[in-house]
Amino acid sequence: MVSGKPLPLARPGIDRAAHHRLDEAWLAAAWSHPSTWVLVVSGGQVLVEDTPDGRTELVLVPSFDAPVTEKHRYFLGTDEQGVSYFALQKDALPGRMDDAARPAGLREVGGLLSERDAGLMVHAVALENWQRMHRFCSRCGERTMIAAAGHVRRCSACGAEHYPRTDPAVIMLVTDDQDRALLGRQVHWPEGRFSTLAGFVEPGESIEQAVVREVFEEAGVQVGEVSYVASQPWPFPSSLMLGFMARATSSEIRVDGEEIHEARWFSREDYRRAIATGDILPPTGISIAARLIELWYGEPLPRG
Ligand SMILES: [Zn+2]
Repeated sequence: MVSGKPLPLARPGIDRAAHHRLDEAWLAAAWSHPSTWVLVVSGGQVLVEDTPDGRTELVLVPSFDAPVTEKHRYFLGTDEQGVSYFALQKDALPGRMDDAARPAGLREVGGLLSERDAGLMVHAVALENWQRMHRFCSRCGERTMIAAAGHVRRCSACGAEHYPRTDPAVIMLVTDDQDRALLGRQVHWPEGRFSTLAGFVEPGESIEQAVVREVFEEAGVQVGEVSYVASQPWPFPSSLMLGFMARATSSEIRVDGEEIHEARWFSREDYRRAIATGDILPPTGISIAARLIELWYGEPLPRG
């Protein structure tokens, strides 16, 4: 694991207990059990609250507080005490009597939550994204129905079963023979935001091939050796980020101008100085990009 710390969205949560997903009697009993907790999710957001001691927690409600039709209920798993957790998809987040609770998305709180809460939220948000966008059968066009406690959609017309989709994407820190790092600025990023290159894996392609192709397409740099570092789910809406270190075999940069506006080679000293002077912005947020850069930099990144 990069820097010995788990990535924000790839922390161990609870046991997904997938063997219960087809057991309707077990699911009904779990849903109505008084110890069961429910996470309401709507449009990628959930309710969170900040505790007096400075932590951020999910707002979980008992299942009897959460009237439900089964088509919007996803089983998330069980914890070591045997407590069951469900997500409930709604058109809007519920109001609360107190105002400590606030709506939040994964980008905002994914790095603040406990391991259990981060695991629950990333699972619930990923399922919701998929459910919302796969209401019709990709084989015959008819409406699909939720099955397997939210982890399958089944077509009532042709019988096809559709499983949650995950799109692999590669994200890579490229270094050269002087151990400089290649960082780029995407067309839509603000001035000064430089980070690792990234892109989607194409059909019929290995992830290593995708790293080589994306670096050449975006920055015109040839890559030789590629080594895998770590992954994290990235449900915006349905990606899995696969992190790599890659070694360049050429140094001339030719950006594509479509995805990457500008790219530069940074020595560690260049990088430290550029952040200190405000020439570039330090990486923020929950992306694996910051960890890849930190792995190259060799110590916690300067904060500007
Ligand atoms: Zn069908």
